[in-house]
Amino acid sequence: MHRKLFFAVMAAGIVAAAFIHAQQPAANLVPAIAGLPPAARAAAASIDPEKIRAHVRFLALDLLEGRGPGTRGAELAAEYIATQFALDGLEPAGDSGTYFQSVPLYAVHTVEDKTKFSLAPATGLPVELAYGTEIVSKDQTGQAAADFDAPIVFAGYGIHAPEYNWDDYAGVDLKGKVALIIVNQPPSSDVKFFKAKALTYYGRWTYKYEEAARRGAVGVLLIHRTDLAAYGWEVVRNSQAVEKSYLEGDPSATLRAAAWIQHDVAQRLLTMAGLGDLDQVIDQAGKPGAFHAIEFPVRLRAHIESRVRRYVSANVVGRVPGASSASQAVLYTAHYDHLGIDPTLKGDQIFNGAADNGTGCGILLELARAYAHSSVRPPHAVYFASVTAEEQNLLGSQYLGLHPPIPTRQIALDLNYDMLLPIGVPREVNVAGAERMDFWPTVQRVAKAFDLAVVPDPNPGAGHAYRSDHFSLARTGIPAFSIGQGNLFEGHDLAWGRMQGEDFVKHHYHQPSDEYHPDMDFRGNAKMARFGFVLGWLASEQPKSIDWLPGDEFEAARKAPVAQ
Ligand SMILES: [Zn+2]
Repeated sequence: MHRKLFFAVMAAGIVAAAFIHAQQPAANLVPAIAGLPPAARAAAASIDPEKIRAHVRFLALDLLEGRGPGTRGAELAAEYIATQFALDGLEPAGDSGTYFQSVPLYAVHTVEDKTKFSLAPATGLPVELAYGTEIVSKDQTGQAAADFDAPIVFAGYGIHAPEYNWDDYAGVDLKGKVALIIVNQPPSSDVKFFKAKALTYYGRWTYKYEEAARRGAVGVLLIHRTDLAAYGWEVVRNSQAVEKSYLEGDPSATLRAAAWIQHDVAQRLLTMAGLGDLDQVIDQAGKPGAFHAIEFPVRLRAHIESRVRRYVSANVVGRVPGASSASQAVLYTAHYDHLGIDPTLKGDQIFNGAADNGTGCGILLELARAYAHSSVRPPHAVYFASVTAEEQNLLGSQYLGLHPPIPTRQIALDLNYDMLLPIGVPREVNVAGAERMDFWPTVQRVAKAFDLAVVPDPNPGAGHAYRSDHFSLARTGIPAFSIGQGNLFEGHDLAWGRMQGEDFVKHHYHQPSDEYHPDMDFRGNAKMARFGFVLGWLASEQPKSIDWLPGDEFEAARKAPVAQ
């Protein structure tokens, strides 16, 4: 739809909505639900779309310079959120009696003209790779320089998944070596085998780096093929051209070369190793029982230079005390960081991040206000954490998971909000992951009461389940999921909603044009906040804590003895 028309339609919708809103008693915004006390229902109903708007507007101002972690803009955003917590009477739950939890980070920028990679076969001359067009890499350790000369091991998909009876590393020792790995996961149409078309964590490049690092690898070369990666080499190249941050002391970030190589370079490497066609080898590696890792008679020689910037950012954490001091706290999360400023861009250089994730922050702040002002206390404590460095691969939430405000076992549930387009009142909710916990019947019941159809992740192949902060907490065992909206909105058909989503992804997602507009409609954000309020309250009220269903990938972490 044309942009002007889009906003005209939205503006008409808002006028109509304001009229309806004025006529509706507040409590009608939240249905009566068994187990929800009337005072809690009233508190949820007090969640105000115009207050969410005010937060989003402020956080998306050019003055906040895109909220890049480690910059003044991100600090201003954190101070704003902490100030709102204080005004609402939340107790500080960060470091030493403050709202701030310091997150130590370092950002790595590869010095491209000083960094050299070459492939050295056992016989014949080494071949130098062109940095940028053939290979890109980051030294995860945060040291200024690295040199190594190590054998290359072809490790297929680089996956060790006992539940699928799959081990690409069987019989190989990776210590001090470089793993050559295919992106994505073995193709499947069977839900019991790598969940068919849905991307599992094993298919994410982050997993492949972590797994190889755990095995002592010095480097990883991920083979880029556009169809398998779902994006072109330009995306890989551009995302590696900028600095990338890591958590200080992260034991899973130890690769001296976390690299991608271009498809044709991988083919050249296979030819050197005396193997045939790369695409045939890739096909073969995806078939059960058909693959064995092999060490090539080719070494990777590397000289890597990095510019490293060490900095501290902060998670902002507040708490509303519960009626009982026992465990079973509820946690709400939403990241406040975004991509900052890109001075090389022509025109607008500020990544305002209004939708991503001003909206989640606005929702989090309204939830905090509603809980803090409720006339009855929630049964147990409720924590609110606005986390940093999500866009740097979930680092703030990873740190929060490693250093929770209370022991992990005492957190019943994490509800996360990330990028909810303010385009009207949703009739569908996406709570992917909730079906994997024993809280699922409650989630379904509450969605129904809110007249929200529960829809599956519209694009499971994109791996959204692993791409927001709830994942960091789920990995520590905490039952966690994100609350998102589907494509059906009041007054529109599905096609309209789908088109809005596609238009946003194409023209605004992670671009300077993700900006605040006065004609945005925050009623949907408020509805999603009220829905999450009720879920959190009911989780707090349950007679027992929430668990993952037996056999779930996070069950073991939940059951593990707590090391706090
Ligand atoms: Zn984002």
